[in-house]
Amino acid sequence: MNTLLPTTVVGSLPKPSWLALPETLWSPWKLDGDALLEGKQDALLIALHEQSRRGIDIVSDGEQTRQHFVTTFIEHLSGVDFEQRKTVRIRDRYDASVPTVVGAVRRERPVFVDDAKFLRAATDRPIKWTLPGPMTMVDTLYDDHYKSREKLAWEFATILNQEAKELAAAGVDIIQFDEPAFNVFLDEVKDWGVAALERAAEGLRAETAVHICYGYGIKANTDWKATLGSQWRQYEETFPLLQSSSIDIISLESQNSHVPMDLIELLRGKKVMLGAIDVASETIETPEEVADTLRKALQFVDADKLIPSSNCGMAPFPRDISLAKLSALSAGTNIVREELARSAPKVA
Ligand SMILES: [Zn+2]
Repeated sequence: MNTLLPTTVVGSLPKPSWLALPETLWSPWKLDGDALLEGKQDALLIALHEQSRRGIDIVSDGEQTRQHFVTTFIEHLSGVDFEQRKTVRIRDRYDASVPTVVGAVRRERPVFVDDAKFLRAATDRPIKWTLPGPMTMVDTLYDDHYKSREKLAWEFATILNQEAKELAAAGVDIIQFDEPAFNVFLDEVKDWGVAALERAAEGLRAETAVHICYGYGIKANTDWKATLGSQWRQYEETFPLLQSSSIDIISLESQNSHVPMDLIELLRGKKVMLGAIDVASETIETPEEVADTLRKALQFVDADKLIPSSNCGMAPFPRDISLAKLSALSAGTNIVREELARSAPKVA
């Protein structure tokens, strides 16, 4: 990748209203059978087209083929009963009705590999694919079999590694594991979270990323954020562990959040995917605001290691808002690219 400050998005983009109910998490599909398959592929192509024409360099599927970033993956595993639902508190924050682990978990067949091949065939740009991280998967289920979050996480890590290897073989350039749970269960992150993540990312012929955020812009998350005080320092615990891990890229939230920018210094040497777009507010950032966030980050990360991005997925947004935010991200990045080009020493 030769582009300086390559832009990307964390993961999800809104789906077209003919495919799923807009502005809703876990939104039910409006199509079924072959029409659903075709509709998902069409939506993926639209998401790709919008990213490309709005200047996003590392493109994704916009998660158009999945209902939810965790449960759609779990649906493809055996050992999990979706009929037996339990209400549990997820991310220690809100109650959700989740399926139950009733036996040994196993990946019966590839989950996203066909979708990734479809995206690969549709673009020459670098592509990034998101998978849930082991801890976040454990935290989105009721476990009636392993009775140990750690044991179940290790099982999921093995399964994720199988899927990730096949995604890399399908031509995915960056495989990203979403671990919002890493901002909540700090002791578990130390005890086994990072180790399980590294197991999921082991031996991949692709770059690896981990995304850690304060969640989608839904009410349970904004209420939680209000309790975190004026400085959000959760990353201070996890970044040193990630800095010495095998993961290549760390994705974090920054725009309008109370994360002190200097915490990025703890990641020195790693690539940093920086959230310069707020997903909890429908106000479109100006290019200058985006540029300002990137300039601040550049005090703590080398320019060749900074990847401008969004804070989190944009699925809950109205479509026009999310698309305008993509444009703002690339316009703001262009401002900083030009500044860097001007200040670079001229080679005679
Ligand atoms: Zn996120």
